[in-house]
Amino acid sequence: MQKPEWYTKAQDYWNGVTASVDGMLGGFSVLDPIDVKGSLSFVKEFNHLAGGYACDCGAGIGRVTKNFLLKVPFAKVDVVEQAPSFVEQAKADYLKREIDEGKIGNLYCQGLQDFVPEEGRYDLIWCQWVLGHLTDGLKPNGLIGVKENNASIEQGVFDEEDSSITRPNSELKELFKKAGLTCIKEELQKDFPQGLFPVRMYLLKPSSTSSLS
Ligand code: SAH
Repeated sequence: MQKPEWYTKAQDYWNGVTASVDGMLGGFSVLDPIDVKGSLSFVKEFNHLAGGYACDCGAGIGRVTKNFLLKVPFAKVDVVEQAPSFVEQAKADYLKREIDEGKIGNLYCQGLQDFVPEEGRYDLIWCQWVLGHLTDGLKPNGLIGVKENNASIEQGVFDEEDSSITRPNSELKELFKKAGLTCIKEELQKDFPQGLFPVRMYLLKPSSTSSLS
């Protein structure tokens, strides 16, 4: 499949999904509090993040921004999301209060493949259930957080419907390495129901000498 088609297929898929927490989680809104708890405890020891600036990539309606990132608490979060209906719903409702309180910087309605973060803006770029390499937007000691499903078979699991691939842990870590990123912490999400993909959290930092784009 060619790249543009890959992205437009995903767009078509997400444009048809309800702009709700349930929509974001494929019908598993029960996972939201468990997921948020896991993420908060995952970054807890990184004290310097509190009060900083985060970027939520593939943010959907802003579930991760509202329930996790602003509870760290980051002072401000930028949101990048390609589906117009999700961004509209975030503005009008889900993140309305946070916007009024000045906690949301920019809401970019854009594909991550076209998003070029401003240099040196973020303390943490969080990519959950949507992957991207956005290291050039980080501050010198900035981190990238990735939370993704893990496939248990080596070749990964291709999903024809939403045009995505679920990669095994080993391949994700290979890709991080190739992108010049060092994994400084990884952890399995606990307490998710059986029958779902295992979910892992990773904190990555650019390997010191490389300048990445
Ligand atoms: N991270 C959110 C939403 C997960 S659903 C959460 O955990 O609640 C996946 C989201 O990624 C959808 O909102 C979808 O529109 C978005 N997405 C998919 N491909 C994208 C791309 N290329 N660029 C930006 N967002 C994308």
